[in-house]
Amino acid sequence: MNEAQTFIRIEDGLDLPIVGFGTCLISQNDSAPAVTAAIVAGYRHIDTAVAYENEAGVGAGIRAGISAIGIARRDIFVTAKLWPGNADWDDAPKGYEAVLEAFETTRSALGLDYIDLYLVHAPTGGAERLNQWRAMLHLKDEGKVRAIGVSNFAQSHIEEIKTAGLPLPAVNQIELHPWSQKPALVPYLNQNGIKPIAYSSLVPLSTWRAKEGEPSSKTEAMKAASSNGSSPFKTMALKYGVSEAQLLLRWGVQKGFAILPKSLSPNRMRENLDLFGFVIDQNDMALIEGMDRGDGVAWPIGDPTKLG
Ligand code: NAP
Repeated sequence: MNEAQTFIRIEDGLDLPIVGFGTCLISQNDSAPAVTAAIVAGYRHIDTAVAYENEAGVGAGIRAGISAIGIARRDIFVTAKLWPGNADWDDAPKGYEAVLEAFETTRSALGLDYIDLYLVHAPTGGAERLNQWRAMLHLKDEGKVRAIGVSNFAQSHIEEIKTAGLPLPAVNQIELHPWSQKPALVPYLNQNGIKPIAYSSLVPLSTWRAKEGEPSSKTEAMKAASSNGSSPFKTMALKYGVSEAQLLLRWGVQKGFAILPKSLSPNRMRENLDLFGFVIDQNDMALIEGMDRGDGVAWPIGDPTKLG
C-alpha cells in the first residue's frame, strides 16, 4: 500500500489525501508540467489558489496527469481558494454575488466540473466576511464544491461564524511547522472538529524559497538557523536516516495535519511523499514542541491570521 494515500476524513464521506502537492510560486507555464509530474509521482491532492495566478496551468496539469496514468477525475482531490479582497489594500472585499462569480471564474480556469475543497484564502473580508461564508455554504448546497473551509483564520474569525449560527468550516489551512506551531489555535480547531491543514512545512530548511523572487518574512535569525550545519532537524534526520525535509514533513503528518509540500524537482516530489517508513520518537517530538518561534513567515506581510 502507498501510505502517502492515507486520508483524513474532513466530513461525512469525504476524505482528504494527507500529502498534497502545493503550487504557490509555480508560474502558469511551469504549473502544467509540475502538476502532471506530481500526479505521476503519486500525489492525489493538488492545492492551488486564484492568488497564485496559475489555475489554467494547474488544470491542464491535472488533466494530463489523469490521462498519463489512467485514473479518473474523482481520484484527484483539488483544493482551490477564493481571494476575499482586503479593504486595507484598496481591494474591495467581495460580497455574496461576487464570491459566486469568483468561484465560476476559478472553476472555469481550472476546467473542472466541480472542486473538492474551496477555501476563503484569508480573513480579510472585513464587513463582508460572513456574507462570503454564506456564499461558500451556498456553493456547497448546490454541489459545486464537495467541502468548504477557510485559510489563515484565527479563533476570533471562526467564533464570528459560530455566533452567527452558521455551519463551521471543515478545515483551516494555516502555516504550521516546528517554528510556528500555533499552540492555542490548533487545539481550538481540533475541539471544534475543524481539520488543520499545514502549509509551508519546510520553512526551517535553508533551501526553502531560497531563489530570487520568492518572497517571505523569514527573519535573518531564522535564515542563520536554517543554514546552521548542526541544526536540530539535521541531527534528527541523520538519526532516522531520512532527509531534513522528510523529518519536517513527517512531523506534520504525526501531528495529524494534512501537508502540502511544493517542489519543482521530480526527485524532491518523490522524496516528499516518502514519509511512512519511519516514526519520530516521543523524545524528539517533545524536543520539537519546545522550538516554537511564534508567527508564520510565508506571507511577506507577516502572519495573516493577525489580519481582519
Ligand atoms: P514548502 O512546500 O514548505 O517549501 C517549498 C520550498 O522548499 C521550495 O523552495 C522548494 O524548492 C523547497 N523544497 C521542496 N522540497 C524540498 C526537499 N525535499 N529538499 C529541499 N528543499 C525542498 O513551501 P510553500 O510553497 O510555502 O508551502 C506549500 C504549499 O502550501 C504552497 O505551495 C501552497 O499550495 C500552500 N500555501 C498556502 C498558503 C495560504 O495562505 N493558504 C500560504 C503558503 C503556502 P524547489 O521547488 O526548488 O524544490
